Amino acid sequence: MRFKARSPVVIVIASSLWLATVCNLPWWQALFKLPQFEGWHGVWSSILIAIMIAGAITSLLGIWVWRWTLKPIISVLIVLASLSTYYMLQYGIYIDTPMIVNVMQTDAKEMSDQINWRMALSVTLLCGPFLFWMWSTPILYPRAKRAVIQNVLLLVLGMAVAIGSVLVNSQEFISVMRNHTKLRFLINPLNTIYGLTNAYTQPLKRDETVQALGLDAVIDASSERPPPLFILVLGETARSANFSLNGYNKNTNPLLSQENIISFTQARSCGTSTASSMPCMFSNWGRTHFEKRPYYTENFLDVLQRAGYAVLWIDNQSGCKGQCNNIHRFETSNLKDPSLCKDEECFDEIMIKYLPEQIKKLSAERVQKGVVVVMHQMGSHGPAYFKRSPKAFKKFLPECSSEVLSKCSQAEIINAYDNTLVYTDYFLSQVITYLKKQSAVQPTAMLYVSDHGESLGENNLYLHGLPYAIAPDSQIHVPWITWLSPSFENQRGLTRECLNTDKDQKITHDHLFHSVLGLMQVKTQVYKGDLDVYKNCTTVR
Ligand SMILES: [Zn+2]
Repeated sequence: MRFKARSPVVIVIASSLWLATVCNLPWWQALFKLPQFEGWHGVWSSILIAIMIAGAITSLLGIWVWRWTLKPIISVLIVLASLSTYYMLQYGIYIDTPMIVNVMQTDAKEMSDQINWRMALSVTLLCGPFLFWMWSTPILYPRAKRAVIQNVLLLVLGMAVAIGSVLVNSQEFISVMRNHTKLRFLINPLNTIYGLTNAYTQPLKRDETVQALGLDAVIDASSERPPPLFILVLGETARSANFSLNGYNKNTNPLLSQENIISFTQARSCGTSTASSMPCMFSNWGRTHFEKRPYYTENFLDVLQRAGYAVLWIDNQSGCKGQCNNIHRFETSNLKDPSLCKDEECFDEIMIKYLPEQIKKLSAERVQKGVVVVMHQMGSHGPAYFKRSPKAFKKFLPECSSEVLSKCSQAEIINAYDNTLVYTDYFLSQVITYLKKQSAVQPTAMLYVSDHGESLGENNLYLHGLPYAIAPDSQIHVPWITWLSPSFENQRGLTRECLNTDKDQKITHDHLFHSVLGLMQVKTQVYKGDLDVYKNCTTVR
């Protein structure tokens, strides 16, 4: 049997659609289980996602549309996708890099054990009809010059269609991808291509060992001075623009505005997600070098500890992403405190409640030199913003009370988000209250910095995590708030008045490493004074 001759463009588009639909049964199965995909709205979202996948595949195929490559490449992709589909349906697995590495390490004997009639039948059903049609269809290849233009067009238009369909539906798409991160490994054959590329480039990646940092670090101060207590509150998903301290028109900072704080209004983050920002902000690589760093290094907490300080990490969220490997840590998110916890998570206040007893567990000799505490907040973690503020702090109503953001109006989403900031305002004021009490016996200070910002529907964007180069400012513009007790100001000759004149200077997470070392009077070669935002206002060194 021979079918009518076709242009290669028709073959590319048909195979992209076949791959996006038939060869992606597990993906569609998983998607339709999500509450976002109910009803007509779900049908519409699914069509857009299918177009997105097909567009991406078309774009990938664009460079392979030549007489000797088109059919073989499409056949390989379709067979791979059918095999993946079979394994996913049969075993509920995901095709990620470790899985690909696993398969590559399987020998022929193990391979042959896997082959059975059920598999052969499934794969034949999934790819047979299309492959039969394609190989029986003669293809009308254009002349070389036209072929080049046509291929470039396929590449560009495919990408444009993929990006366009994501943008039309960005809220749904980003929220699904962020909340169900493993789902992306169900998209055939993009998962296999991604996994293979990753598996082959991994050995070229950086050395796993962590290089020590600041081996010369010492506390450059009289051992007679009272030991300072410094709390670094690591905020979550707090965006600067929604802090009334920084000019927001709703009062999200009723308590902090009564305190003697300094709010730097122009701070930018290192990344757009917790995983990308956190390791970067604790390091001294700086944003532009962090991604390409040739090896892993310790962070400023390690340097503080090496200098002699007692360092403590209290975590009320998903852990420290490798930033607290060498220091004392305590997790509060899994505590069963009925007044502050429910549904496997706790409000941030719980960290203050357990702080005194955790400080007691630190080495007494180190505590004599001073204590540095990191408190990792749950903060404004989305999309379930409503879960992050206790009832008493729900100042802005009505708020979105669903984690499916598309069920709410933008105003309700912003209300729910702002309520999380009202609660953070209270939490920070409670940290300050604790530090004020403590300042009777030692100098105390607090610094609050968020890991990244958030999109709340501007330009139809939600949540965060866009590539840095294209991320809107709201995802990288973060609060940076400092509070110093009078005794801390005295000890360092640092004044709030001076810092306030500097509050609109442009700073970034690159400054955090050096600013904390500076505040804590750590002397080391890795400290750079020009990246210490407090240096110009400090008279005692
Ligand atoms: Zn985060």
